[in-house]
Amino acid sequence: DRFRESKVYMRALFDYIPLEDKATPCQEAGLPFTRGDILQVVTQDDPTWWQAKRVGDSNLRAGLIPSKQFQESLMNSSSRLSYTLSFRLSRKDRQGSAGEGSDPGDPDFMTYEEVTRYQQRPNERPRLVVLIGSLGARINELKQRVIAENPHRYAVAVPHTTRPKKPHEKDGVEYHFVTKQQFDVDTLNNKFIEHGEYKENQYGTSIEAIRSVQAKNKMCIVDVQPEALKRLRTAEFKPYVIFVKPRVPEGRRRRSAATSPGGGDHGRLTDEDIQEMRQSAIQIDQQYGHLVDRILIKEDSVSACAELRGILERLEKESFWVPVSWVR
Ligand code: 5GP
Repeated sequence: DRFRESKVYMRALFDYIPLEDKATPCQEAGLPFTRGDILQVVTQDDPTWWQAKRVGDSNLRAGLIPSKQFQESLMNSSSRLSYTLSFRLSRKDRQGSAGEGSDPGDPDFMTYEEVTRYQQRPNERPRLVVLIGSLGARINELKQRVIAENPHRYAVAVPHTTRPKKPHEKDGVEYHFVTKQQFDVDTLNNKFIEHGEYKENQYGTSIEAIRSVQAKNKMCIVDVQPEALKRLRTAEFKPYVIFVKPRVPEGRRRRSAATSPGGGDHGRLTDEDIQEMRQSAIQIDQQYGHLVDRILIKEDSVSACAELRGILERLEKESFWVPVSWVR
């Protein structure tokens, strides 16, 4: 039994540098990894130090990594410290949530998430594809393009809105047109994965709208604010999350010269624009990077669309790592 290959795989939700770890019994025996790496846990015999290999690594020797429990206790004590120091009174009792295992939505308790290979079978509902984007990514346009190319396979979830229907529009096609009262009731009932206001009208995308696309056996593509990810990460939807980052021009340029390479998508960008785009990408990466399956660097609309198409095609044919809770 001891010699059987371990079937326990963990996605690392933090970076680990053994040479900087003062707690390890042996720095040289440590296995360095970065957030997002898939680790095959060879033994969990010791409650504090596991032995693991990195999947896809040519190095066959296992190394030491902190156990989930140990890492959680470290993160818990350091976050309690920062809690005390900064009087972050709005946060709920952190101590309480630590015992229940790390919540992949809470950046303070990101340790490992147990994962397994999953391949969508032909009779199963297609996985939900979620696009999130940093400033300048224009994910809605990207989504529309990919769907327009292949409307039999891909579709949007039809949003709800309180704005009046235009003559050429059909209820249930562009939008589900509802009254403000209905919209409020739906919001209270948690029907929407996200909603927002635009020119004094409400807009929102419902869970049902996603389900009805999937019921037609089409792949549903949504573009959402990253906050919606937590809501969507369920066994039902098995979301595949793509983070679209616009290619940010290198270095500092003078205002007049700051056009994007290829002259296409961004038009003229000032230094501040560029700075804001960088900052936005960094922020999303820090807060939500561990929930991202794939990063798409958007050069221009045409190549980004082609790349997205390729990703979607592979999604139906190949297997991917997903949380074990989605398939058990
Ligand atoms: P329109 O009324 O011209 O069809 O849409 C105007 C704007 O409403 C869009 O540009 C977009 O900003 C917003 N919008 C449309 N659908 C949604 C949605 O599902 N959720 C949110 N939050 N905003 C939407």
